[in-house]
Amino acid sequence: MPDHPVITIDGPAASGKSSVARLVAQRRGAIYVNTGNMYRAMTWAVLDRQIDPADAEAVRQATAVVEIQSPVVAGQTVVQVNGIPLTDADLNSDPVNRAVSHVARVPEVRDRLVAAQRALAALGPLVMEGRDIGSVVFPNSPLKFYIDASEEVRSARRRAQGHADQVAERDRLDSTRKTSPLVIPQGAVVIDNSHLTLEQAVEQVLERLPSP
Ligand code: C5P
Repeated sequence: MPDHPVITIDGPAASGKSSVARLVAQRRGAIYVNTGNMYRAMTWAVLDRQIDPADAEAVRQATAVVEIQSPVVAGQTVVQVNGIPLTDADLNSDPVNRAVSHVARVPEVRDRLVAAQRALAALGPLVMEGRDIGSVVFPNSPLKFYIDASEEVRSARRRAQGHADQVAERDRLDSTRKTSPLVIPQGAVVIDNSHLTLEQAVEQVLERLPSP
């Protein structure tokens, strides 16, 4: 069992779950954890070492010596690779977007990042978002959400953010992998965010939480 309560928020790429999770965390005084950034940081390290992200064995070997740290700064975790902080531009570059779902398929990468994610619950109450948070990382949390949106809306959101991101291809890889595929976790409240404002989506989460 985690030391502190964890609100889990899962969902496909660009469903709006990061914006919702960050605001829910602020309003509940919890630490916001974006686990996608941990997989993105591993991917940045793989590309920096000129490893082919689709070569699972090479990724396994190269990442064995990569340490991902997640210190908390201003209420949210930030990612560092071997002590070096990465910028949003590093984490969201086109090469990282293309490669991340390949790196995230490697079981050893997942094992290490899942262990690091579980350890964060010792720090305080968390709002943690990703793909397998309610299904694998904290399956016993009673506070699970799954935020969805149509593929059309999700692709348009990524384009509006200025990213060339093949969300359908990432979802295909994320949903079909053997280890911890993207699923609706058992007991999760599903919120369709296709036509909600950010405030409405946040409200739908907050109204289902027990009073603080
Ligand atoms: O959340 P974001 O879209 O930034 O995640 C980037 C990628 O990291 C996902 O497409 C997925 O391959 C991987 N990921 C994962 N498990 C998580 C969070 C992200 O496999 N808990």
